[in-house]
Amino acid sequence: MKAIKNLFTLVFSVAIFTACVAQDAQQNKTDLSSDVITQDDQAALTPQAIIQGLKEGNERYVNNNLTPRDYQAQVKATAKGQYPEAIIISCVDSRVPVENVFDKGVGDIFVARVAGNFVNEDILGSSEFATAVAGSKVVVIMGHEACGAVKAAIDGVEMGNITAMLDKIEPAIEMTAGYQGDRSTANNDYVTEVVNNNVVNTIAEMRKNSPIIAELERNGEVVIAGAFYDLDTGKVTFLE
Ligand SMILES: [Zn+2]
Repeated sequence: MKAIKNLFTLVFSVAIFTACVAQDAQQNKTDLSSDVITQDDQAALTPQAIIQGLKEGNERYVNNNLTPRDYQAQVKATAKGQYPEAIIISCVDSRVPVENVFDKGVGDIFVARVAGNFVNEDILGSSEFATAVAGSKVVVIMGHEACGAVKAAIDGVEMGNITAMLDKIEPAIEMTAGYQGDRSTANNDYVTEVVNNNVVNTIAEMRKNSPIIAELERNGEVVIAGAFYDLDTGKVTFLE
């Protein structure tokens, strides 16, 4: 009899527990953000407001306070169209998870990635699509601390298709020729200087080789910004 009573208590407890968990899950689901950028939202945003939003999103990332999202709701809400606010051109480095870095969800930003975050014809074409066709108003060229591609370019690595890729970073090394001190990859400060000059050079290349984006920038419809991602903290510093 006692065993039956215990069994009944156990079954009853499990039922209560299950009900509580289900209620919690329901509760939490309603706390998830399902907001996506609409055409009207995109039209109302200014480049300055978008950059401010990227900075605030990065602050949430640094503070481990990312927006909880209902990704499936965002997937459904964006299936018929996209109105992203920006395109981020980033290195492929696995430690730079771009959407998370800016606390962005489905449909919020375009991301173009290539080792060493330079621009070529294809990345420029992607950027023209993002801005002139899809309406994004900000282009961010984002380098990062201790970039392996930049280090390999400094070391003069030659290997397969990597050789031609690293040639694109060469101008940044030339721009840093006046650096006082150890100009080798053993010197993190020097590597950071080359990373930042690579961003500056990439912005200049974009202005020179994409008349479409250069004109959007002249008209104030698009802002091109440089940025640096700190591997130790996750913080993004916009280069002024
Ligand atoms: Zn890199």
